Amino acid sequence: MNFSHDTELSLRSACALVNTDRVDGEQLGQVAALDDFLTEWGWTGRRDRDDAELAAVHALRTRLGAMWTLARDEEAMVAEVNALLADTQARPWLTRHAELPDWHLHLADDQDPLARRMGAETAMALADVIRDGELRRLKSCAAPDCDAVLIDLSRNRSRRFCDTGNCGNRQHVAAYRERRAQAGPA
Ligand SMILES: [Zn+2]
Ligand SMILES: [Zn+2]
Repeated sequence: MNFSHDTELSLRSACALVNTDRVDGEQLGQVAALDDFLTEWGWTGRRDRDDAELAAVHALRTRLGAMWTLARDEEAMVAEVNALLADTQARPWLTRHAELPDWHLHLADDQDPLARRMGAETAMALADVIRDGELRRLKSCAAPDCDAVLIDLSRNRSRRFCDTGNCGNRQHVAAYRERRAQAGPA
């Protein structure tokens, strides 16, 4: 795995954003919930804390969720990433700050609208993934009753389940029960 630390962080943050309405309902229904999400993921810069900002983040979430499903279609993904880079007017610059003291890229000005900054950073991270030929790391959770997405950053790309809904454990328990049932009473 050779993604830079800020690319990995952007990918995990994007994944978490997409999943905020895919497990246990809407988790970003209120401005305060968005505020908590941003703090949890170390987002710096402007925060309006109003409904317009929240709506823009919801729209970005929908767009990113749709992009995740294009992981098997490289050409289509490239077109979407280019569109997102253009729409967000991505403009890379290096910075470091208390939340992330290693040098890393920001893709927009700290005073640009939040959804634009989030979109630009995600687009740039996805551009890294495409350039490394690693789009297959963008996955959907393998649990049949789960719509969550995941970014598989494991060495051998072996992850199958999201980390939002305890899906891996649930599937292991289900498989164990099935084996026990097939084996019949002891
Ligand atoms: Zn930063
Ligand atoms: Zn899941």
